[in-house]
Amino acid sequence: MNILIINAGSSSLKYQLMDPNSGEVFAKGLCERIYIDGRLTHKVGDKKVVKEVPMPTHAEAITAVLDILVDAEHGVIKSTDEIDAVGHRVVHGGDKFADSCIIDEACIKAIEDCIPLGPLHNPANLMGIRACQAVMPKTPQVAVFDTAFHMTMDPVAYRYAIPKEYYENDSIRRYGFHGTSHKYVTRRAMALMGREDIKIINCHLGNGSSLSAVSEGKCRDTSMGLSPLAGVCMGTRSGDIDACVVQFIMNKYGMTADECLNMLNKKSGVLALSGVSSDFRDIEEAAKAGNTDCALALDKFAFDVRKYIGSYATVLGGCDCLVFTAGVGENSASMRENICRGLEFMGIKIDPVKNNIRGEEVCISTDDSKVKVWIIPTNEELMIAQDTAELVMAAK
Ligand code: ADP
Repeated sequence: MNILIINAGSSSLKYQLMDPNSGEVFAKGLCERIYIDGRLTHKVGDKKVVKEVPMPTHAEAITAVLDILVDAEHGVIKSTDEIDAVGHRVVHGGDKFADSCIIDEACIKAIEDCIPLGPLHNPANLMGIRACQAVMPKTPQVAVFDTAFHMTMDPVAYRYAIPKEYYENDSIRRYGFHGTSHKYVTRRAMALMGREDIKIINCHLGNGSSLSAVSEGKCRDTSMGLSPLAGVCMGTRSGDIDACVVQFIMNKYGMTADECLNMLNKKSGVLALSGVSSDFRDIEEAAKAGNTDCALALDKFAFDVRKYIGSYATVLGGCDCLVFTAGVGENSASMRENICRGLEFMGIKIDPVKNNIRGEEVCISTDDSKVKVWIIPTNEELMIAQDTAELVMAAK
């Protein structure tokens, strides 16, 4: 089976053509500078080709992707008829989607209804969907939501303690994000542990970071909220913050709410604390060279993650398995070591030698660690492909 996965942003579009059963990726790539001029980067195995292709809208970007997939020199299929279905990443599903969904008019309307909740991402995701519908009208399309995995939370976890009308009229509540990644690593953790009735704390630590507390495969709490700004401090996001900070800064510096939120989303986090970079590799290097602001940024990030791990062990009433995933979680041995420091009291002990293994699923806890600590490389594309294939097969 061939599933095309589309992740459409406002001026970019990532794609992968893969087999949902084997996970084999036949081709992948990126369209950039849509609406400006247009550039396609296409990869098949180790071979890469970059082409300048006019992309006045997302439709031309999708057409460029389909053209190169069937191209005699760089293509991997003979005809676009060989694409069995398309899976679209959609950021905000609001409280309307607890699962992935075959795209029809009602689904599109529901994604449109979620635009006020995901104003930065949903419009771009919709452009990707419409563009695909236009150029491949007969191919089934599926929407896979970043929020869906977290819809099993109880009201105590998802309700904010603010007047009820904002929840009832405006759907203001905790949603959480990175759900496709949390779902993927949860499934892998259950398979690796050989049991489904386990308590898992997932740490998706990348440029954006979020944690989830999972039992019986269901999400019970997650650190991001109505938007991805909440939770631990991140590359450029502040994470949890007292709302009065916003009021103070707006009043003193004459900033609008949008300007202030832009500062909290794009100019804060470890970028602000380190004064060096939002990239953890740069910060680690500078900290090693003696930069104390960088050391603080790393320690603050580890502190936030550690604090959430402790609180999620309480939410779950224990923890069997701690999972590290995404850019920092998979690659930074020193950050994993920093986060787990002092957690021996709750049965978390990592083996310094195993902690240095990279690029594979590996249990890094000591044999006598009560909690098993795993590095599980995430694969959101595979999760999207599997959800897409499952729904399309069931609909046949
Ligand atoms: P996102 O998908 O949120 O953009 P990723 O999951 O790709 O982010 O993670 C990106 C982050 O991972 C970057 O901050 C990068 O510095 C960090 N990262 C990647 N490799 C390493 C490494 N070897 N050591 C430390 N951090 C790393």
